[in-house]
Amino acid sequence: MKQAARQARAEGRVIGLVPTMGALHAGHLSLVEAARRESSPVVVSIFVNPKQFGPQEDFAKYPRPLEEDREQLEGLGVDILFAPSVEEMYPPGFRTTISVEGLGDRLEGRARPGHFRGVATVVLRLLDIVAPQFAYFGRKDAQQVRVIRQMAADLALDAEIVVCPILREADGLALSSRNAYLSPGERRAATVLYRALDGARQAIVAGECDAARLVQIMRGVLAGEPLAAPEYAEIVDADSFQPVTRVRGACLALLAARIGPTRLIDNMLIETPALAPVPADRVTVRCSL
Ligand code: AMP
Repeated sequence: MKQAARQARAEGRVIGLVPTMGALHAGHLSLVEAARRESSPVVVSIFVNPKQFGPQEDFAKYPRPLEEDREQLEGLGVDILFAPSVEEMYPPGFRTTISVEGLGDRLEGRARPGHFRGVATVVLRLLDIVAPQFAYFGRKDAQQVRVIRQMAADLALDAEIVVCPILREADGLALSSRNAYLSPGERRAATVLYRALDGARQAIVAGECDAARLVQIMRGVLAGEPLAAPEYAEIVDADSFQPVTRVRGACLALLAARIGPTRLIDNMLIETPALAPVPADRVTVRCSL
């Protein structure tokens, strides 16, 4: 992979990297499409990274349909599939960990201790090997993107981090490899994350900008679904990931819930002018689900 990347760079080509854990779905493929628009060669990595899974998590049972993934990528005209083994990525004696302080302690970081250290470590490793000018990530994992952007800025990495929108099923459920774990009943219940975010969106559009009230609306929708066990529902500043009291500037509504045994996350980006006058009906609010 390093050799191919060096050669592409020497030829003046623009390498685009889409890092994934495989079990590819249309969300991943939308990142590939974005990469194809501005990069050639497009490299897709598939690596189920043990370092980002907790001891009680689904590392062992995470789906690994490598042959199907390969066929899909071939169909999309992806130039290189990089699917290293755990031993190649972390040779025996590997001791280095990348830790981005402060941004990954709450929310996903609290629910999954060590998760973002695992993510940052593998992403830096992938960026070093593939040497892309552009690396594509989904806003589906909003906190992950924030951590990676911070790492890229702090270390002055060459790669530009590109964030792509969330791809959803027709009923609003965000595409995820873990949706494959859901039973038919759980699959129906899983739309509750989208419904909760959409409830907040409707309130925001109607002028609500009090974060506590919006959180209450989201919690209310989640509580109405018997198969859902909510983990967190918050509205945070998109830069600091700290909770806000009022929606202002760029914020994120973030949700995590278990649907049966399956843990799902989702979010909505809320953008208002930073110094907007209240009442909100005079300002343009953009909610991106
Ligand atoms: P994963 O294989 O789950 O590690 O995801 C690989 C990349 O795909 C990450 O950047 C995710 O944010 C992105 N991704 C996952 N689901 C979606 C989705 N529904 N829409 C857009 N991007 C997604």
